[in-house]
Amino acid sequence: MKIVLDHREMSFFADQYRAQGKTIGFVPTMGALHAGHLSLLEAAKKACDISVMSIFVNPTQFAPHEDFAKYPRPFEQDCRLASEAGCDILFAPEKKELYPEGFSTFIKVEGLSEALCGGSRPDHFRGVATIVCKLINIVKAHKAVFGQKDAQQAIILKRMACDLNMTCAIVVAPTLRLEDGLAMSSRNNYLSSAERNAAAFIYKGLQRARELHEQGERQAHVLKQAIQAVYAQTNVFAVEYVEIVNTTDLQALAELKGATLVAVACRTGETHTRLIDNIVLGGSL
Ligand code: AMP
Repeated sequence: MKIVLDHREMSFFADQYRAQGKTIGFVPTMGALHAGHLSLLEAAKKACDISVMSIFVNPTQFAPHEDFAKYPRPFEQDCRLASEAGCDILFAPEKKELYPEGFSTFIKVEGLSEALCGGSRPDHFRGVATIVCKLINIVKAHKAVFGQKDAQQAIILKRMACDLNMTCAIVVAPTLRLEDGLAMSSRNNYLSSAERNAAAFIYKGLQRARELHEQGERQAHVLKQAIQAVYAQTNVFAVEYVEIVNTTDLQALAELKGATLVAVACRTGETHTRLIDNIVLGGSL
């Protein structure tokens, strides 16, 4: 595996691969790699000739009070995991590489960015869309793979790629979970043991909604109440939102028809860790 720090060098390799007629599959991450990230790499390797994973903790998607400074950065371990998983290039630029002095261009996917997580993280998706567009341009990716774990992000990036006539396909891969159903996340590292145990309720609530949907329930308020009833069994985390929305415009639905995103966000009381999860009923992203 090549480790590339310089964006010009990354683009140079990408040009070489493209000149050889090879396709480039790309997995952007913020590092602290876990099996969920590696499953995206696996998907990129299956879909393309060359796999590139990036590690960059993107400052523009964190608000000043958020966890940018304390976000885990186990770089050597990440290099080992990516290499063992068969990654061809690990691209790990420094902040000054991607945001040099004078940087002043941002991408805002309007409408979609204000929904769900946008309520409590108003500039988050502006930072995400901007960095993903930049990384795709540098890596010259044919396909970029994202996790359903961050469903709103995937939906926003699909919209951006379409609106900006980007040639890179945005691919969404399933959420990998731990044994008790908790979605894998680099932020799970922050949890106390009591929080870690209670965090399993997050997916249990979503599963309850899936059961009711399978039994024919289509009223969004009934599914929402059922999820909230599961979450009421613990006081270890507070619910930020439980929303049932259309997968294309993220608008709230009263009645489920077609592919529907059931998305939740919670915050734990002790370590104030924000956890998100979702399922899609009646279709896929
Ligand atoms: P992050 O490093 O958290 O920015 O995530 C990088 C990519 O990995 C994003 O596309 C995430 O949606 C994806 N991802 C994070 N957690 C998981 C998971 N548990 N399963 C699948 N993909 C994930």
